[in-house]
Amino acid sequence: MSVIAVVGAQWGDEGKGRVVDYLAADAGLVIRYGGGNNAGHTVVNPHGHFKLHLVPSGIFHPGIRNLLGNGVVINPIALLGEMDGLATAGVDCQNLFIADRAHLVMPWHPLIDQLEERERGAARLGTTSRGIGPAYVDKVARRGLRIVDLLEPEAFRRSVSTALERIRRTVADYYRAGDPGDELAPLIAEATDEAAIVDAYLAAGEQLSSHVVDGQAMVDAALDAGDRILLEGQLGTMRDIDWGVYPFVTSSSPIPGGASLGAGLPAVRIDRVLGVAKAYTTAVGAGPLPTELTDVDGDELRERGVEYGTSTGRPRRCGWYDAVAVRFSVRLAGYSSIALTKLDVLDRFERIRVCVAYRDPQSGRRWETVPASASVYARLEPVYEDLPGWNADTRAARSWPDLPPEAQAYVRRLEALAGVPVSHVSVGPEREQMIVRA
Ligand code: GDP
Repeated sequence: MSVIAVVGAQWGDEGKGRVVDYLAADAGLVIRYGGGNNAGHTVVNPHGHFKLHLVPSGIFHPGIRNLLGNGVVINPIALLGEMDGLATAGVDCQNLFIADRAHLVMPWHPLIDQLEERERGAARLGTTSRGIGPAYVDKVARRGLRIVDLLEPEAFRRSVSTALERIRRTVADYYRAGDPGDELAPLIAEATDEAAIVDAYLAAGEQLSSHVVDGQAMVDAALDAGDRILLEGQLGTMRDIDWGVYPFVTSSSPIPGGASLGAGLPAVRIDRVLGVAKAYTTAVGAGPLPTELTDVDGDELRERGVEYGTSTGRPRRCGWYDAVAVRFSVRLAGYSSIALTKLDVLDRFERIRVCVAYRDPQSGRRWETVPASASVYARLEPVYEDLPGWNADTRAARSWPDLPPEAQAYVRRLEALAGVPVSHVSVGPEREQMIVRA
């Protein structure tokens, strides 16, 4: 029996979904522990090519239970849409469960998201506009609505009515009414239509009710049965609410501490933490990214790596591997080992750069870790070490000796810089394109 947390070691989009899909074959339970439908986990397997936003990546393995943990915030309409899409592709969602304590994303949350982003102007965070941050704000402010509330229609009606009184005041604060040309006007009307919201959410609650469980009890039973449990993270350490590059962070905790909280599992029961890192760096949204490339190498990484957001389609910012950021993540998350993804994307480079430290051009100071201040971080420059490329196609490699010597040297160097072993190397999105090192 083992409990494995699969955690993003960079800025998100490291390929966690693909790693979970790979590991899920012998799991009993897969749990998403944080975030909402801002996540986008791409999974390519014999069933097809899927973009999962809420549903855990274990859903493709028949017989495996998949739980949306209490730490996830759930838009039930979006969830039903995702389940419909999966059903159409022949993927059965009977084994999908939803923790009753999970909070709801209400229609006013995406609206607040957009109003706040507009207010921030040039300082916008670049959120996905799905209302995830505002849903977590309501959770922490102790006024959120939860999955369990959908099962109590009268109380739910009253809670929506109370919430909307406040939302109308908030909207009036941000928004000058009487601007009919404003693109947010229809969204405001929709997000404050009390009767329609109550009807739609209660109907969704009815449809989802057979999937709602006491998440902790389900986890407990799986632990007792000795099942393998996978904890599926979203985003990565550099977007962690406490440890990421604040304020360019998500509103939950992607690191293993967040996994314990958001899945309802004692921290001491996590046996192994697998960090997922891309062989280079990408990020979506705003904030400092020291190794970002705005030249042909950046374009090459984006095109070869198909670096466009799963949820939003936005082009991802791309750059060389940042060993400082990954080391920071290793210290926080305590990885047992790292799964290095997308090595194949580097197949055509003559020279590959790795950021081994940062340098502050103002003071000349060398940084070996990530500073707390985003404005300090924004001015730090990467200190690079150059490694030779391998200029060969690695996509057909299935075992370590199949990799060219330069690719092996690159992986070994990243391993030394991270201070933990690289246990998995992936050379393509398909299930079998995974090299497992002993
Ligand atoms: P997640 O949110 O961490 O699950 O990551 P995403 O799904 O947003 O992004 C990872 C993308 O890379 C997906 O499109 C995967 O299909 C793809 N991918 C994962 N591993 C590899 C790999 O080793 N090579 C290539 N070329 N693509 C990969």
